[in-house]
Amino acid sequence: MTRPGRLTDEAAQLLTLSTEPWLSCEDCFRLMDTFVEAVLVDPDTTAFPQMRVHLRGCGACAEEAASLLDLLVEDRGSH
Ligand SMILES: [Zn+2]
Repeated sequence: MTRPGRLTDEAAQLLTLSTEPWLSCEDCFRLMDTFVEAVLVDPDTTAFPQMRVHLRGCGACAEEAASLLDLLVEDRGSH
């Protein structure tokens, strides 16, 4: 039995508060590099709120963002 991605209460709340449309995974991947860079510069950045909402609700994109972030952090750490 497959389950659709579940929303946390917080994500659901953000969604109802936000007037931004829910990003598609395609949009999410397109913004991923820019988003991860912004997070690296400032982990508490409020940029891309729709990205954060999407990542909370979408395990696949959250994993992708996490591994991209890891890569960049390692890359920076080694220089
Ligand atoms: Zn996604």
